[in-house]
Amino acid sequence: MEIKVNFNSLQNALNQTGATLKYRFSLSKSNSIFSKVLNDFDKAGSLQIITNTPPNFYGGLLVYKNIFVYALLNNENDNSGNIHFSSCDILKNNLSQASLHLSTSDLFKESGELQKGYKPCESCLQITNWNNFSFAEDWAKRIVIRQFNIKHIHDHIISFQKELLSKIHSEETLLSIPNNFLRILEIIKAKKKWNCQICKVDTSGYKQTFHIMPTTDHKYTENEGDYYGLCVLCLKKANNYIITYPEELEYLNKSRLNRKDH
Ligand SMILES: [Zn+2]
Ligand SMILES: [Zn+2]
Repeated sequence: MEIKVNFNSLQNALNQTGATLKYRFSLSKSNSIFSKVLNDFDKAGSLQIITNTPPNFYGGLLVYKNIFVYALLNNENDNSGNIHFSSCDILKNNLSQASLHLSTSDLFKESGELQKGYKPCESCLQITNWNNFSFAEDWAKRIVIRQFNIKHIHDHIISFQKELLSKIHSEETLLSIPNNFLRILEIIKAKKKWNCQICKVDTSGYKQTFHIMPTTDHKYTENEGDYYGLCVLCLKKANNYIITYPEELEYLNKSRLNRKDH
C-alpha cells in the first residue's frame, strides 16, 4: 500500500512544538523487508546476475528492491573500474552485464573509500551533482573523485532509503524526484543544520535519523524554505509507516533530554 505524507498533521505538529510526542515503531517489519533483500546478495555483498528484478532509479540513484546499490560492468571491453550509482548511459545500455554491490561489499574499504583500482563513474557524478561535481573546475572534480566515500553519501541518503523501504511515497512522487536529489539532500540538510524543525533535536550525531520533505508535493528545489527538516520520530507523527530502529529511538530520546533549552 502506498500512502502520502500527511502534511496537515506535520503542520499541526509544527504548531504544537513542545507537546509530548508519542510514537510506535515497527522493528520486526523493517528487519524482515531488509533481510529479505539482502538474501539476494552473496557473502561479499554482491549480486552477480540480475535475473527477474532489474534495478531502477529514484532521485537519480540506483536502487534494487528499495536498497541503494552500486554497479560494476562485467564486460570484457570495460576494465575502467568505474563504479556506477546513477542512470548514466553506459550503465543503462549495459544493465544486463552489470553486477550489483551493497555499500558493505568488498568494493569498499572499511573507511568507505573505494578499493584500489576502482573509481566513481564521472557521468554518474555529473548526473547526481554530488559535491557540486557538475559545476566544479577540473582540479576540483579530481578532488571529488579522489574523496569519493560511500559513508559520506550514506549519511545523506539512508533516510531516503528508509522512506523507500517504508513505501511512504507514491510511485508518482518517486518519479518526480529530480536526478540531483543527492545534491539536494546534501545541501538542504546542511542548511537545516541537521536540526528537527518540530522537536528541535540535533540529529548530527546520528545523521540517518534526519529527513527532508518538500512543503509542496513534487516540488524539489534547492531552496531550504521549500522543505521541512524532520527527525524520524516527528516524521512518524505525519506518517506512521516510516520505519524507525530502536537505536534511533534511543539516540533521539537521549538527545532531546540533553537539549540546551530543556
Ligand atoms: Zn555511470
Ligand atoms: Zn523531531
